[in-house]
Amino acid sequence: MQKRGVNVAKILIVEDERAINDLVKFNLELVGHECYQVFDGEAGLSEALKLGYDLIILDVMLPGYSGFEIMERIEKTPVIFVTAKTSPEDKIKGLRLGADDYITKPFDIIELVERVKAVLRRTKSDSAHFEFDDIRVEFDNRRVYKNGNEVILKPREFDLLEVLINNRNLALSREKLLYLVWEFDYEGDTRTVDVHIQRLRQKLGISDRIQTVYKTGYRFEI
Ligand code: CA
Repeated sequence: MQKRGVNVAKILIVEDERAINDLVKFNLELVGHECYQVFDGEAGLSEALKLGYDLIILDVMLPGYSGFEIMERIEKTPVIFVTAKTSPEDKIKGLRLGADDYITKPFDIIELVERVKAVLRRTKSDSAHFEFDDIRVEFDNRRVYKNGNEVILKPREFDLLEVLINNRNLALSREKLLYLVWEFDYEGDTRTVDVHIQRLRQKLGISDRIQTVYKTGYRFEI
C-alpha cells in the first residue's frame, strides 16, 4: 500500500511530436504522475487555460499557436518549456514570459523527470512525504521511519533513497546515480553506488524493492 505526497501531480503535455509526447507521458506516469496529452497549439491553449494542472510541459514549435503565444495567456500554472532551438534568445524569452524552467531537445528523460520534480517542489505546497510498505520517508526534515521507528540514514544514503523514489520504476545506471547523488562525472567510482545501495537495502529491509538491473544499475520498483 503506498500513499504519495508532493511527488504526484496532474501534468499537461503540449507536444506535437507524438513519439516525444508519448515518451514524456510514459515516464512521468511511471514515477506516479497523472498526464494529459494534447498535440497542437489550439488544444494546448484551451487546455492550458483550465485550472487544475500542477504543471504544463510546453513545446515551443507547435502547429496553431506557438508555445510562446500559449505562455502569454497562462496566468498561474507552472511551465517547463521544451525547445528544439538552442538559441539563448528562446531561453530568455521563455523565462521572461514566466516559465519556471526549460529543457532543450534532445533531452535525457531522467533529466526531465528531475526538473519536473524540482519545479513541483518549488510550486506545490503539500507536505512532502512518500510511503510504501512499512516505510515512511519525510523529505523536508530528511527522516525515515520503518514501522514507526526512525531509521538513521547518512546524508548520502538519504539522497540516494530520494533519487530512487523520485525516479521509481526507471532503470538508473550507476553513472546516472553518481551524477544525481554525488554530482560526480562519469569517471567517479561506481562502487560507491553499490555500497550505498547495499546499506539502504539492509537498513530498510527493502532488497526486493531495489532491483539490480543487469549490467546497468538499479531500479526502485513500486
Ligand atoms: Ca514541436
